[in-house]
Amino acid sequence: MSNAKIYLVGAGPGDPSLLTLRAVELLGQAECVVYDGLVAPQILRYARPGAELISVRKRTGDSPVDQQDIHQILLDRIRQGKIIVRLKGGDPGLFGRSAEEVALCLENQAPFEIIPGITSALAAADYCGIFLTDREASSQLMFVTGQEAADKTDSRLDFANMAAFGGTIVFYMAMTRLDLITGALIRHGKDSSMPVAVVQHASTSRQRLLLSNLQDVAEQCRRDRIEAPAIVIIGPTARTEARRNWFMRRPLFGKRIVITRDRQGNDSFGAMVSAQGAEPIALDTIRILDGTQDTEVQRTLAGLSGYDWIFFTSANGVRRVFAALARMNRDARALAGPKIACIGSESAACLAGFGVVADFVPTRFTSQAMVEELSQRQSFAGKNIVLLRSGIAPDDLPRALSQLGGIVTDSPIYMVQSQRNDPSDILSRLARNKIDWITFTSSSTVRSFFEQVPLERVLASKARIASIGPETTRQLQSLSARIDLEATRHTMEGLLSALMEIAP
Ligand code: SAH
Repeated sequence: MSNAKIYLVGAGPGDPSLLTLRAVELLGQAECVVYDGLVAPQILRYARPGAELISVRKRTGDSPVDQQDIHQILLDRIRQGKIIVRLKGGDPGLFGRSAEEVALCLENQAPFEIIPGITSALAAADYCGIFLTDREASSQLMFVTGQEAADKTDSRLDFANMAAFGGTIVFYMAMTRLDLITGALIRHGKDSSMPVAVVQHASTSRQRLLLSNLQDVAEQCRRDRIEAPAIVIIGPTARTEARRNWFMRRPLFGKRIVITRDRQGNDSFGAMVSAQGAEPIALDTIRILDGTQDTEVQRTLAGLSGYDWIFFTSANGVRRVFAALARMNRDARALAGPKIACIGSESAACLAGFGVVADFVPTRFTSQAMVEELSQRQSFAGKNIVLLRSGIAPDDLPRALSQLGGIVTDSPIYMVQSQRNDPSDILSRLARNKIDWITFTSSSTVRSFFEQVPLERVLASKARIASIGPETTRQLQSLSARIDLEATRHTMEGLLSALMEIAP
């Protein structure tokens, strides 16, 4: 008996945060993901590493679809006994030819499941502050495919019925036939001043909205080049106002921002960037390896209470120390005794999450500022100091502390390794001037990024470069990169606020 199983999964309208938990879970398990053209690339980040990713680019139904090829791809994988996610834009059951793929499963005795997704009509309306139904004005809702609208009389669409329909009509796949559709509705008696809203690329950073009426909408879409993929909403409630259009009003709406941390860091910074309306374009430039298994490091961690001072320099270091202590059956009491300093409010906040309050957080988050501020109030002469930080951190901090008379142990809690990834998406966007910002949050990410993306390509584009703080800026300067912005607070939040302030 083969293990093959097919999951027909709705990928939602574009915004990855509109995926269902079940979709994310299945993407993490599937050996093979067969996805449509309308599935956003960011969603594929949830696929299991090493999974076979197959694009079956059929767009919007305007080009002839070779459903047979898709069937063949699925059939091959079924025969190989694979777990397959068949990922479709929006909801798999709406205008997605899922019935044929389910028939294929039945014919071949392959078990299947169908996982709903948020259909683009719902996202288009909600992400513009448009309501498809209204207590007063619209109590019925109709979903229609525009692809069936033909010049000829053999169209399967019932325009007379639609013209008489008192509620809201939502058209999918209508852009190439909008003239025909609106013309037919008016001919059948629909009010030509009926409000119409067209939403392109709903729920993505490229979302566009056009508000019009039945008479003018086709011409206006042509003029403004509003094309597929778009949803057309026709009815009394197809209106909104600036205050209600919450999605497009967010401070970084429409900005394309390259993020360059490690995978986990990119996931969290990416979520922050998206929450403000920008599109994060991730290149994972580094990998962080745990150093706490090393016997020397273990010995240091076992004897932390013997030091006079413990220094943390990143939230990542804090998390790894606590994870290592937990593995040693220890807890926060292992840090009891010594005073604790944190460079950066992020490491201090992370430490607070473990119930430990830092004794000292400098006002400026650089090693130099910290030593200057500390030495004013504290003598380090003869003091035992342990630095729990990255194995590739610069030696200015230990050197400065030694100069103040401290006895310094530098303990590599984690290692940072440069990571290669496919930069072709970024290169092609740079060439098309489709990147607004490239952000850097550490010197190692700067080095790794420019090993993969030639600086000339960045300089030749309109992309601007943002740095989290002076150490990162120094690394950028040493490569002769131009720096357009340096955050005044050297944290992820600080970098994001700086981008928001500068956004026009
Ligand atoms: N199963 C999909 C529909 C597939 S048909 C769903 O449930 O959404 C393809 C059509 O969906 C496109 O022509 C367009 O009308 C619509 N569509 C898909 N994604 C969209 C998006 N992000 N914004 C606007 N329309 C979208």
